[in-house]
Amino acid sequence: MIAQIIINTNAKELNKVFEYNVPVQMQPNIKIGSRVLVSFGRSKNLEEGFVVGFTEESEYKLKDIVKIEENEFIEEENIKLAKWMAKRYICNISDCIKLMLPPGTKTKVLENRIKEKKAKFVNLKADIDEIKENIELNKIKSEKHIRVLKFLIENGETNISELEMFTDVSKAIIKTLEKNGYIEIKEKQIERNPFLYKVMPRMSTNLKFTQEQQRAYDAIETAIEDQMNSEFLIFGVTGSGKTEIYLQIIQKVLNEGKSSIMLVPEISLTPQMVDRFVSRFGLNKIAVLHSKLSVGERFDSWNKIKSGEAKIVIGARSAIFAPVQDLGLIIIDEEHDSSYKSEMTPRYDAKIVASKIAKNKNIPLVLGSATPDISTYYKALKGDIELLELTKRANNSKLPEVEIVDLREELAKGNRSMLSTKLYEEIDINLKNGHQTILFLNRRGYSTFIMCRDCGHTIKCKNCNITMTYHLKQNKLKCHYCGYEEKPVTICPECQSQNIRYFGTGTQKLETEINKIFPNATTIRMDVDTVTKKNSHEEILNKFKNEGINILIGTQMVVKGHHFPNVTLVGVIAADSSLNIDDYRANERTFQILTQVAGRAGREKLEGKVIVQTYNPDNFAIECSRKQDYKTFYDTEIGLRKQLKYPPFCDIIVIGISGNNEQEVIKIAEKLHSYYKQRVINEKIGILLYKPLPAPIDKIKNNYRWRMIIKCLYGNQVNCLINDGLEKLYALNKSQDIRVVVDINPSNMM
Ligand code: ADP
Ligand code: ZN
Ligand code: ZN
Repeated sequence: MIAQIIINTNAKELNKVFEYNVPVQMQPNIKIGSRVLVSFGRSKNLEEGFVVGFTEESEYKLKDIVKIEENEFIEEENIKLAKWMAKRYICNISDCIKLMLPPGTKTKVLENRIKEKKAKFVNLKADIDEIKENIELNKIKSEKHIRVLKFLIENGETNISELEMFTDVSKAIIKTLEKNGYIEIKEKQIERNPFLYKVMPRMSTNLKFTQEQQRAYDAIETAIEDQMNSEFLIFGVTGSGKTEIYLQIIQKVLNEGKSSIMLVPEISLTPQMVDRFVSRFGLNKIAVLHSKLSVGERFDSWNKIKSGEAKIVIGARSAIFAPVQDLGLIIIDEEHDSSYKSEMTPRYDAKIVASKIAKNKNIPLVLGSATPDISTYYKALKGDIELLELTKRANNSKLPEVEIVDLREELAKGNRSMLSTKLYEEIDINLKNGHQTILFLNRRGYSTFIMCRDCGHTIKCKNCNITMTYHLKQNKLKCHYCGYEEKPVTICPECQSQNIRYFGTGTQKLETEINKIFPNATTIRMDVDTVTKKNSHEEILNKFKNEGINILIGTQMVVKGHHFPNVTLVGVIAADSSLNIDDYRANERTFQILTQVAGRAGREKLEGKVIVQTYNPDNFAIECSRKQDYKTFYDTEIGLRKQLKYPPFCDIIVIGISGNNEQEVIKIAEKLHSYYKQRVINEKIGILLYKPLPAPIDKIKNNYRWRMIIKCLYGNQVNCLINDGLEKLYALNKSQDIRVVVDINPSNMM
């Protein structure tokens, strides 16, 4: 008996399968999906692998499998899914399999350690800025020390075992850092229940549906009863009662003894949102999975799901791979959200994977949004997805009134501040009435770029070709791509002029300005700079809600799904920031963001008002969002997409080539391009193949980035074409430090 095994390394050869002999004593236990250890190549260490198939004979003399982990295997259907993903997304099967493994599987030892009730926790002792400075000044030299300190700066208090695993250092290293006074180690009880800190409210009960809700529910219920694989789109304005429908279908599935997976965008996966589910179904039946949980917590959730105790999984993108028992339903809330598409290898789209799983298992897939993805709505109109519409808010609260302010007129009037007269007045009134305000600005930091007035030189990151952003509080310039920081310049490095100016605005500057204009108002800011540690995102929102802070200032983090009854005013400082991105989805993103922000105002009895400031008041996305008119927006946008050949009429495949030697990168890009071009011509393949060009951000962390774009309807033929090209390339250039990644409809075109 011979097993075909995928080895879990980052080998460049895509999906090469290796054959190993199965010793007789292992034969009764081995199956497709078994996790095995084998010796591989010249390495002395055993490598981990997964069985993906069997054959009887081989022309080579084969090595034996060394060990089989009997209790750890992947279901055969998941191996199939991983193979399908690897082909579709042009990546390694082992990378796809990793998504399906329990958290922390990397080290056996760890599992035992994290089962202990007490554990040691590591905290920073020295001042963060001092540590950063010491790193910069080379006072801390060891790579490993730096790794540990940086991890703690990013993640805060960490269980010592988890710290060892994530930073890949030994305990001795951590002890040295303790001795040197950088960190402290304390023993504490482990609390690994992600719900533990909360007081559970009374169990809530089903609400009586409105007519529209009932109609939507009935359609999905029928599909569940008939065990049909149907896809639904619940298209309903914010507050129209989508979540109430989810709750009741999940109940229905639960009554049949089956499980449900509900995906939500990472950012809206707040305890506030999870509470609604917990108070309906109780704690035990629910498992939460997202990246802010510690490895230990994720490990517990995973087991709770695998054992069948938790029948409701709520999680971000990768929760689609949770090991649920008897899956009966998948829900994807805010289906238009870009976080469902992975921007890391494997670059899968969770919506497409969910649709595949739903088909395999013959279960319904329910998508929900107030601003559906253009491609989803297109499919719904074509009849591929059943459209279920909710046109009214469920609790009869009115949609807020949206007013557009033309910033060009403000400038003409001589108003150079970040607030138009109108927005200033409305904030003032809102403060006097004791109501809360949210201000939204899609850029963090203080100033967005720094330029020499005399020669036009802008200060860019030395590792990435991107402008540095000024952060006032630390008085530093920061690169938002690689995290590089430096002291702000006062003299132009090009022409030595002192005429250095700060341009643009970010959330930090907005907060400073608001504090100046409204000195008596309390403010709180939410962006990646203020949200770092675990739960801090939640802490800010709770503080805003419970302590009655007057004004919340934030980036798109404030946009998603939160419910603040006392917020009656939302101000959008610059609606143009998402219009000016170099991406075919600029209009769609703008419409979505504006509609979502507007949805934060006046969610209950108090009426809401939204002020949108813009330099492009005539843009149709802005105009349609003012009227909250998705359909007119869709009609215009779909026309443009068709004309310009963008999704859903065409897929966009980006083949990115990067490396630290630009000449090599160009050489490889051109080789690949000419291979594809030949095949396209010879085989008359109907695709648009563009020449390799530098990516819009052509250098990140000292890696030169080139890319080549293919526009086509992505199917088997193009899939094979791309794969063939890459295999040829790997065969020719085994040793090189060039990375080639393929991304199908990336959610970020930079
Ligand atoms: P969405 O998910 O579409 O934003 P929600 O389900 O959160 O909408 O509902 C918005 C508000 O309306 C919530 O406070 C919810 O409790 C309430 N609600 C939903 N459905 C009903 C209903 N049938 N009757 C009364 N209130 C409802
Ligand atoms: Zn200059
Ligand atoms: Zn950088």
